[in-house]
Amino acid sequence: MFGASSQNDLLDQPFIKRLHRGDHEVILQRLQALQHVGDKTTPHHERFIRLDGKVIDVEVKSIRVPVDDGVATLVMARDISERALNYMLNYDSLTGLPNRRLFQERLAAAVMACTDKTWMVATLFLDLDRFKMINDSFGHEVGDQLLLRVCERLSNTVADDVIIARVGGDEFTIILPHVSQRAEVMAVVRRVMDSLTNIPFIVHDEEIFMTASIGISLFPDDGKDAVTLFRNADMAMYQAKCIGKNNYQFYNVVMNSTGTATKQVVLERALRRALEQEELYLVYQPKVDLKTGHIVGLEALLRWNSRELGHVSPAEFIPLAEETGLIVPIGEYVLRSACEQSRAWQVAGYEPICIAVNISARQFLSSDLTDTVERILRETGLEGRLLELEITESLLIQNTESIVQMLYKIKSMGVQISIDDFGTGYSSLSYLKRFPVDRLKIDQSFIRDLTWDSDNAEIATAIISMGHSLRLKVIAEGVETEEQKQFLFERRCDEMQGFLLSKPLLSAEIVSLFSYK
Ligand code: C2E
Ligand code: MG
Ligand code: MG
Repeated sequence: MFGASSQNDLLDQPFIKRLHRGDHEVILQRLQALQHVGDKTTPHHERFIRLDGKVIDVEVKSIRVPVDDGVATLVMARDISERALNYMLNYDSLTGLPNRRLFQERLAAAVMACTDKTWMVATLFLDLDRFKMINDSFGHEVGDQLLLRVCERLSNTVADDVIIARVGGDEFTIILPHVSQRAEVMAVVRRVMDSLTNIPFIVHDEEIFMTASIGISLFPDDGKDAVTLFRNADMAMYQAKCIGKNNYQFYNVVMNSTGTATKQVVLERALRRALEQEELYLVYQPKVDLKTGHIVGLEALLRWNSRELGHVSPAEFIPLAEETGLIVPIGEYVLRSACEQSRAWQVAGYEPICIAVNISARQFLSSDLTDTVERILRETGLEGRLLELEITESLLIQNTESIVQMLYKIKSMGVQISIDDFGTGYSSLSYLKRFPVDRLKIDQSFIRDLTWDSDNAEIATAIISMGHSLRLKVIAEGVETEEQKQFLFERRCDEMQGFLLSKPLLSAEIVSLFSYK
């Protein structure tokens, strides 16, 4: 254990030399407490030092024993370093549940035991709904406590032979090694879901309501090996999320059909994880005043560098995020990051600069955006006048009273509002008058062929003068050439944005364009 080549390496050495300094006192105290023959310590963990200096974890038990001329203390130690490592490799440190690796092993074993038998093995993939949001709004400590409580409730709900594992942040798997029919699985799933929802969780005096989405795969029908069963349960879980959360789905082959459907599913699954895995980030593109050439603002643009798929363009994933509703948490992430970043620049001493964030119609309609904006401004300490929301005409077209109300409420916080991609929708003066808008962004398709396509030149000119007559600022998007810039300058367009000036840049890169206060 000490790495000695013979007894002589250790003979006549004081025992204390082999104890880790930090453990001296504790271990000596324990030994001194043993007085009479037969007294013994309970097993305790200490650190020993090998002859080569390496520290090893040991489990120590000591006992007073009789020897020829009196009593001595016999210390028995067992190297458990390997056990500790083994533990780390196979168990989740927060909950003590098996991790993904051990889960795969257990599932493979359950499948083996079941091959050619009459019973089935069920794999449940459970993902907590809205956990990320709870984690972000209450903090990680509450998040951790909540996971522990969830783990507790799950453990108390299932039978002893059932294996529960934690395979990701808020992802748990459950193996039912012995089921004879689907109804049996459904009963367990119901119990598991009820165990979460029946009573709210109380963590640090906060009452938290928790639901979960569950996907189920069965051996042998849905896969012959642990990897496939895991993947298919995951896919079924994803389906359950799409259907509206807080429900469960059995895997079926349609979910795994070939061609574009699969690609879409892969993309969706990856996107769902993108937030959690921190694969999303923002870049910033400057907007300048055409007269002075000064930077008057930035537009925050979302980027996704997926571990699975590489860089995915927002043109591809934003529509998907809208379709699936993921735009709501993603949009909130964008809003918060942009405000935080802007505030950080200010604190670092740069001139305050207005930051624009794109808001999808779906995001605007499906969440209480006004509350979110208010909360984020409050939490980040950013002044409302330094935030701008870019919305699209498609939202205004709906022209409902509630949208007008929401926009006024946002304006009352000092936040500016611009109409993105203006000219591509159903632009009409009548609706613009109803809405409290500050700025029109001429869509880049009109700017692209500006100098030689007379139609586009006319449209751009018309948007500029129409905007001005409504006392709105007008900004041109996608300006790439000097000619375009000159054209816009002559038509008295107020601002511009585009590659001519700068591509969207990382936060660390864009500061070189800023001036100090
Ligand atoms: P957008 O809001 O109209 O953003 C302008 C797009 O034009 C950006 O593309 C930008 O990189 C690109 N661009 C800027 N200057 C030039 C130029 O001179 N030439 C050309 N050819 N392109 C230029 P990006 O970043 O790919 O974004 C595409 C669209 O995705 C955005 O259009 C916006 O509608 C959406 N989007 C991006 N980030 C977000 C976000 O955080 N939330 C939401 N809801 N939508 C976003
Ligand atoms: Mg935009
Ligand atoms: Mg645009």
